[in-house]
Amino acid sequence: MLTVAQALDKILEGATALAPQRLPIEQALGRTLAEDVVARESHPYFASSAMDGYALGSLEPVCTQIGSVAAGQWPDFPLEPGQCCRIFTGAPLPQGTVAVVPQEEARAQSPHIHFSGDLQPGAHMRPAGQHFDAGQTLLGAGCQLNSARIGLAALLGNPHLLCIPAPRVALISTGDELVELDQPLGPAQVRNSNIYAMQAQVLACGGQAVRLPIVPDQPQLLRQALLDCLDQVDAIVTCGGASVGDHDHVQTVLRELGADLQLWKVAMRPGKPLGYARLGHKPVIALPGNPVSCYVGFELFVRPLLDRLQGGPGRGLQVIEAQLAQHVQKKVGLRFFMRCRLQEDQVTLAGSQDSHLFRSIAESDGLLELAEEVQALSVGTPVRVLLWPWVRPTAKRG
Ligand code: AMP
Ligand code: MG
Repeated sequence: MLTVAQALDKILEGATALAPQRLPIEQALGRTLAEDVVARESHPYFASSAMDGYALGSLEPVCTQIGSVAAGQWPDFPLEPGQCCRIFTGAPLPQGTVAVVPQEEARAQSPHIHFSGDLQPGAHMRPAGQHFDAGQTLLGAGCQLNSARIGLAALLGNPHLLCIPAPRVALISTGDELVELDQPLGPAQVRNSNIYAMQAQVLACGGQAVRLPIVPDQPQLLRQALLDCLDQVDAIVTCGGASVGDHDHVQTVLRELGADLQLWKVAMRPGKPLGYARLGHKPVIALPGNPVSCYVGFELFVRPLLDRLQGGPGRGLQVIEAQLAQHVQKKVGLRFFMRCRLQEDQVTLAGSQDSHLFRSIAESDGLLELAEEVQALSVGTPVRVLLWPWVRPTAKRG
């Protein structure tokens, strides 16, 4: 049985970034950029006015107005000393402009304009190339495209960006007892809730989920489901049937298909019966069916895998350092991940830790991580907490 760290190493060892694709900029949010993005033109592209007002040909308190320029028009006249023109924000400055005066500081007495206040050379003028020059690299390969960087890439004139695409992840849940959400719940039946949590987790990790129909506990149906999706996805995540009971077929079926089984048990709680194999060089992670184990197993192993497939280092949940506000104890030899709540930097357990009780996942702030060798910890002990992605930390980073 591998430790959590060994299992994660094994999963990341075999994973590399997906081949980059040129994507429309509208689809690039969250993607990792796979090329440097270089400015096509300098910016601003032309000298323009920063205000609605008057462009002046010389710094004189009275000038003669000779024209008007709006945004989008090109001035076909120069300004001589003693001349001015009406100008609007973003409009190109006529040749010879030495300053712009806001309209609030101007008084028209046709054909003359009187200016009050100090006339400063260069005032309210936006010089060409002030922001960046053509040929300058403003976004480097490897950065993750957030909305600000998308805006910058657009400013640089790129309708398409070479990016690492969203990994496609097939999700398969197995179990004779499972029913879809829109079906009435019969005796001995269980809602296929895990697959919706996993679908949301995949999306939250920047992936694209391909949700397969429920697979009953029949090896040939599981085999077919795996083969059907294999070519269309970058990774497969199964849930349920990963243990060694009479109705757990995931391991056997993967073996029969010639998959390379790399691990099939991790020294952790929840989620010990967790497998990882490579099927036709694609990663398959087999998560246990218990809803908490499935959710936690995804966050600990699938999240880093998806990060790696997207060109990242294999980032998992954010870890912070906090302090135990209650006594905890555990079994030695397993790494524990206990649902917990955080108040400032004080950690308490979020109710029962049974792995079929999912509610406490939704009612917690993250997972208290307790190392294999720990048996009991007292109040005040510094501990690591893995934060759910939607929780904003108030404690200091660990
Ligand atoms: P298994 O890992 O197949 O032994 O399943 C362990 C427990 O998780 C059983 O109580 C299952 O009914 C439950 N379970 C399995 N798959 C799902 C699922 N997709 N959604 C919710 N519960 C599940
Ligand atoms: Mg089962």
